Amino acid sequence: MTRADALLALRQDLAHISDLDLQDEPGQLLRCSRDAYDYSPVLTPKLAGARAQLVSRPQSVAAVEQLAAACAKHGVPLTVRGAGTGNYGQCVPLEGGMVMLTTGLQRIRKFDPVTGVVTVEPGCQMSHLDQELRRHQRELRLLPSTWRSATVGGFVAGGSGGIGSIRWGFLRDPGHLLGLEVVPMTTDAHCHQLDEIEAE
Ligand SMILES: Cc1cc2nc3c(=O)[nH]c(=O)nc-3n(C[C@H](O)[C@H](O)[C@H](O)COP(=O)(O)OP(=O)(O)OC[C@H]3O[C@@H](n4cnc5c(N)ncnc54)[C@H](O)[C@@H]3O)c2cc1C
Repeated sequence: MTRADALLALRQDLAHISDLDLQDEPGQLLRCSRDAYDYSPVLTPKLAGARAQLVSRPQSVAAVEQLAAACAKHGVPLTVRGAGTGNYGQCVPLEGGMVMLTTGLQRIRKFDPVTGVVTVEPGCQMSHLDQELRRHQRELRLLPSTWRSATVGGFVAGGSGGIGSIRWGFLRDPGHLLGLEVVPMTTDAHCHQLDEIEAE
């Protein structure tokens, strides 16, 4: 099956999912195929030609599961994108295919004012989370310098530390990241809960 056939079949499978937007406008495909790699004279010529063929924006975990399953079924690569501020081309769809935006999943699900433990969706902007915490006399103690636009999911998957790190250490140090929900790229993709992540 050619990629064009696979994309057509994928679109048909995804058409019935109400909380999933699909876009293929050329300007949007270009925007969603780049991140901050253009600081690098080495990466720029290597990555400039890579292009998404379809962009999706799920608004529920169920839609993410269905999207991952459909991409796995049709052999279409899936690249996840938060705010796209990564420096190394991590958001670039090297093999084309689908780019999934996490901006439709932004909720702060739970906040415990006693422990300060917070559960958020992956597209939650760090600045929004910080604003919310400040209403409870708390604040994030570890932020990337792109915190105004960066997402929590992007920081966890693509970041390491930043403002606050001299005092509080790095993202993977004990007490920072306590759990994750993970959706695998399989034809029967279901969200898995990983709690009590051990520090490396
Ligand atoms: C000027 C500048 C300053 C920076 N300063 C810092 C800094 O101080 N500290 C630091 O650590 N980084 C820094 N960065 C890098 C980057 O901004 C941060 O790591 C930021 O947190 C990434 O968030 P994002 O939402 O933009 O992620 P994106 O760039 O969108 O994604 C980063 C990676 O995570 C993956 N990803 C995103 N969301 C998910 C998800 N939900 N599930 C699975 N994978 C996902 C993407 O596929 C990609 O591989 C800087 C970058 C720039 C340009």
